[in-house]
Amino acid sequence: MTTTGLAGRSVVVTGAASGIGRAAALQFAHEGAKVALADLDAAGAGHTAQEIQQAGGEALTVVGDLSDQQVVDALVEQTVTRYGGLDVLVNNAGIMDRMSALGETDDTEWERVLRVNLTAPFLLTRAALPHMLAAGRGSVLFTASEAGLRGGAAGAAYTASKHGVVGLVKNLAVMYRGQGIRANAIAPGPTATGIQVDAAAGAHGPALVGKLIGATIGRLGTAEEQAAALVHLASDAASFVNGAVLPVDDGWSAV
Ligand code: NAD
Repeated sequence: MTTTGLAGRSVVVTGAASGIGRAAALQFAHEGAKVALADLDAAGAGHTAQEIQQAGGEALTVVGDLSDQQVVDALVEQTVTRYGGLDVLVNNAGIMDRMSALGETDDTEWERVLRVNLTAPFLLTRAALPHMLAAGRGSVLFTASEAGLRGGAAGAAYTASKHGVVGLVKNLAVMYRGQGIRANAIAPGPTATGIQVDAAAGAHGPALVGKLIGATIGRLGTAEEQAAALVHLASDAASFVNGAVLPVDDGWSAV
């Protein structure tokens, strides 16, 4: 018996093939939610779905690039058709930049990072909202970042994209409060997932990533610790939490 109120709810999780999204999908399913998993990575999304189904849960997968409107529409349509609604949307998929300062950020890096990290959540939230409004309830969640709260955690493109995500959260909360919709985000500190490996392999390499991680209090977070915060924000226990951006970083942002 769970107390989250998530049993039977329809939950979309993006970036569910790995890292925080995968951990979130598993935890929502554990709470009894029916989950829709979206990712570019078909094999990874399939593995997450299989693990949920083997544990007796319900999962569907939609594979594709979430910055593509057609993929977004297919995800919402398949979720609503199969589960009868869309109660919780977790905008989690994201990519890192090369930790480049603005002067070294080329158009391709800028446009790709903004498109995946900011435009894709905009497109998906816009597509999901009518279903939430019709039901009179909905929880929209985002995986922002420390880089959405301050300037020194990543490069120009990633930092701008995550500050944009924080703006979306706050504007959504203000515009839709009173209509049963809540919007919140987590702001993870450095967390042990594939994105960290990508960052370490990027333009500034392991040295900068190591410096950032060294600035945290001792260790990387785990995907499960981030996922637990997402589940809490989606749950009935957080029914009065709206427009919040929750740092999950062992105090890094408090320093
Ligand atoms: P990850 O690389 O393990 O997972 C990201 C997932 O998103 C991958 O499965 C990837 O295939 C998917 N994805 C990327 N682009 C996509 C697209 N266009 N369409 C569909 N799927 C796409 O990394 P993670 O750390 O789990 O990242 C999840 C979120 O957490 C991201 O938004 C990231 O910015 C954020 N975040 C991570 C950290 C960290 O240290 N790991 C810190 C702060 C914020």
